[in-house]
Amino acid sequence: MRLVERDLNVIWHPYTQMQTALPPIPIVSGEGACLFDENGKKYIDAVSSWWVNIHGHAHPYIAKKVAEQLNKLEHVIFAGFTHEGAVELAERLLKLLPINQKKAFYSDNGSTAIEVAIKMCLQYWHNKGEARTKILAFKNAYHGDTFGAMAVSGRSAFTAAFDSLLFEVEFIDLPTAENIESLKSQISDLKSDLACFIFEPLVQGAGGMIMYEAAHLNELMAHCRKEAVLMIDDEVFTGFGRTGKPFACNYVTEQPDIMCFSKGLTGGTMALGITTCSQQIYDAFLSDDRLKTLFHGHSFTANPIACAAALASMDLFVEPSTQENISRIEASHRQFFQKIKHHPKIKTVRQTGTIIAMEWETGNNTSYFSSLRDTLYQYFLDAGIILRPLGNIIYILPPYCITDTELNYIYSKIAQALEEI
Ligand SMILES: *Cc1c(COP(=O)(O)O)cnc(C)c1O
Repeated sequence: MRLVERDLNVIWHPYTQMQTALPPIPIVSGEGACLFDENGKKYIDAVSSWWVNIHGHAHPYIAKKVAEQLNKLEHVIFAGFTHEGAVELAERLLKLLPINQKKAFYSDNGSTAIEVAIKMCLQYWHNKGEARTKILAFKNAYHGDTFGAMAVSGRSAFTAAFDSLLFEVEFIDLPTAENIESLKSQISDLKSDLACFIFEPLVQGAGGMIMYEAAHLNELMAHCRKEAVLMIDDEVFTGFGRTGKPFACNYVTEQPDIMCFSKGLTGGTMALGITTCSQQIYDAFLSDDRLKTLFHGHSFTANPIACAAALASMDLFVEPSTQENISRIEASHRQFFQKIKHHPKIKTVRQTGTIIAMEWETGNNTSYFSSLRDTLYQYFLDAGIILRPLGNIIYILPPYCITDTELNYIYSKIAQALEEI
C-alpha cells in the first residue's frame, strides 16, 4: 500500500479537516531550505516547517551532536537529577537574554512553555498572599493550543468549541500612537486584579503576522512595570533571529519578568520548551512551606537529546555567517516589499526582520477560511514552494540558510501568482 493510503487509514492530522483536505505529501528527506517528496520533487520550505527550522533541514552539525548525545544518555528524570546539556543550555541561553533573566524551567513545546509562565505568575501572587488572578492579553493573540494557552489567546473559530470553559482574560488592542494613553489607563484601572500581561512581541504570528511598533510595546511594558503587573514575553515564534535581532525583546529597553521559547530553540530538530524568569519570580517560590513549590513538570522535561540539539543550534546561531544570512534575508525582503507594495491585488505588505507578509485583496474581510487560501496554497505547492497562507495572508519566513536563488524564485512565483490568480 502507498504511504498516503496507509496514512489516511490511521492518521488524524493537526489543523486539518480530514474530510475535505487533499492527501498529505510524503516527505522523505530534507537539505538546506528544501524538502524532497517520494517522487524526488523538491519543495522550498518557505515557512520553515511551521516556523521552527532556522538552519535548514537535516543539518549535519546538529545531526552529529544529537547522535553523539544518543550514544551517551537519551533521557533522565529531571527531578532529583540533572545533566550537562540542560545546565549548559540554560547558562548559554540566559547569557543571551536581558540580564534580569536568571532561571530556566524546561518543558517540551511552546504551549507548555506558556502554561508554565502563566502558572509562575498566578502562583507568584498566590504565594505572596495577594489576590491578583486576572491576565491581560492582546486581541488576536496566539499563545498555543493547550487550555491555559488557549485562554490567553484571542477568541476565534479555533477556540469556539471551548470558549465557555476558558478562564476570563482582559483583551486589549495592539498599541498605537493614538490609543496608548487609553491602554495605559485601562491597565491602571485593572491593576489590583492583574497577575500579568502576556504578549507576542512585535509580531502576532498565527493571528495573521500582524505587526506593531517596538516603541509602543516598550511604553506599555514600562507602564506594567510601574503598576507591578508581571510581564510574559512570548518569544516562542520571534526568538532566535526571526525579527532580525536575536530576540524581539532586543528592540525594547524594558525587561519582561518571564520569557518563553520553543520553535527555533532546537533549530527545529527536537521538541523542547523553556520558560525563563527573573530572580524575583523564582524567589517567591522559595519557602519552608512545601505548598509554595511550583508543582509542574513533564515526563520529557529537559530531554538530553533535545538539549543537545538546542546547544548545536545555538553554536550555529552565534556564528557571524548566521547573522549575515538574517541581514541578507531582511534586505532581500525589503526590496521585494518595495516592488509589490503598490500592486492592486495587494492590500498591505508588512515586514519585520526575516518575516514578510502580504495581504491579498479579496474584496471581503480577511478570514482564515478565505477560499483564496486553498487556491494560493495549491498554486505554490505546484510550483515547489511550501507557503501556508493564513487565510488571504501569505507570508515568507525561511530557514536562514535559504539561498538568494531560492528566495528570488519564491518572489517571482508570488509576482506571477499576482498576475494569474
Ligand atoms: C506556535 C506558538 C506557540 C505554541 O507553540 P507550540 O509548540 O505549537 O505548542 C506559542 N506562542 C507563539 C507565539 C507561537 O507562535
